[in-house]
Amino acid sequence: MPDIVVVGAGQAGASLVARLRKDGFEGRITLIGQEPALPYQRPPLSKAYLLGDMELERLYLRPRHFYDEAGIDLRLGASVDAIDRAARTVHVGGEAIPYDTLVLTTGSAPRRLPAAIGGDLEGVHVVRDLADADAMGPRFGPGARVLIVGGGYIGLEAAAVAATKGLQVTLVEMSSRILSRVAAPETSDFFRALHSEHGVDIREGVGLEALTGEGHVSGARLSDGSTLDVEFVIVGVGIAPGTALAEAAGLEIDNGIAVDAMGRTSDPAIWAAGDCASFPYKGARLRLESVPNAIDMAECVAENIMGADRPYVPKPWFWSDQYEVKLQIAGLGAGYDRIVTRPALAARSVSFWYYAAGKLLAVDAMNDPRAYMVGKRLIEAGRSPDPQAVADPQVDLKSLLA
Ligand code: NAP
Repeated sequence: MPDIVVVGAGQAGASLVARLRKDGFEGRITLIGQEPALPYQRPPLSKAYLLGDMELERLYLRPRHFYDEAGIDLRLGASVDAIDRAARTVHVGGEAIPYDTLVLTTGSAPRRLPAAIGGDLEGVHVVRDLADADAMGPRFGPGARVLIVGGGYIGLEAAAVAATKGLQVTLVEMSSRILSRVAAPETSDFFRALHSEHGVDIREGVGLEALTGEGHVSGARLSDGSTLDVEFVIVGVGIAPGTALAEAAGLEIDNGIAVDAMGRTSDPAIWAAGDCASFPYKGARLRLESVPNAIDMAECVAENIMGADRPYVPKPWFWSDQYEVKLQIAGLGAGYDRIVTRPALAARSVSFWYYAAGKLLAVDAMNDPRAYMVGKRLIEAGRSPDPQAVADPQVDLKSLLA
């Protein structure tokens, strides 16, 4: 049996090793993670955990005894310095760990603001790791003034937690609307209104010029010439895939570690999965930043390492929790030419259906799990319901599946 080494103990790495054992892999497995914590879920870090509604224990994907019982050598707090492809070893400190098969599940790292504009001042936080969430938690006292930079999911979820806890929240988004990278204007409008109702001051089309302060951040200068007094700052301006090790090892990089349909990199002994990996999709390359993709792709790669030969076909879905709203997204909306709005009967419920040339691409459902479920099933089946039926709340959604 070959030795498998997995670098990166996040969602993808943890899912992959569990799948290998579940499918009967009996060789040695080593899972190496930089952080000291057991593999944990990241989504609650900008939601329930930040709010203080979730215990640390519940973040862990599996208890420690799972790894012991499964014979998985878990190396936590260990940083891989290099991959030696010729010797088939990875280097951790002075140690060389041999592999027959290597998997890179190195995830991604949050983009930070440059030091030249105050990005290195104390009180400037990102939200990616447990340590990030723990560092900013104590700052969430009622009345505190927080500036959030970036109106993606991180920024909006952090804004929802902060407003719920009674902070004074200003959010700046450089592009003309929040969620512009990932959603249609209708969805942006929905969340803008929701946040405004909760007292969040959202400023779109406004970038950050500089953060100011002596050691600790105390102010911000915005691109519209205005200034703000702030006590701390949360930066959610996107992530960069973790490609450094792969790049240094000479693997092909193309918006992430480039893999083939099976998840293999340009070196057949090395595979990659999750946020760090870009895979072939409809004649181009796609890299998805989401937990469902990390799990599905990692499990597919585990099966392929064991010989399944199954191309990875993503079934994209996403979710976000903000205040009392659960957003669920099925599919990928990029390239849409029409949005169909389906009002739902419950309060604060609506869904937006993305079409391109009559084909259903994606559904954003707010507090409407039925719309999400039906939309997901239709998209996966390659079916496109009549937009008029979708838009009519009297038409039973289930009938669209018939
Ligand atoms: P994101 O989705 O890339 O959003 C970042 C936003 O910040 C973009 O709208 C960007 O605008 C804006 N921005 C960039 N530089 C800025 C500046 N200097 N001033 C003001 N705005 C600026 O990334 P994210 O919200 O940081 O999230 C990181 C990753 O975690 C993403 O992959 C995200 O999907 C994932 N995540 C997902 C969830 C979820 O699914 N519920 C929750 C949290 C995080 P431009 O587009 O114009 O650059």
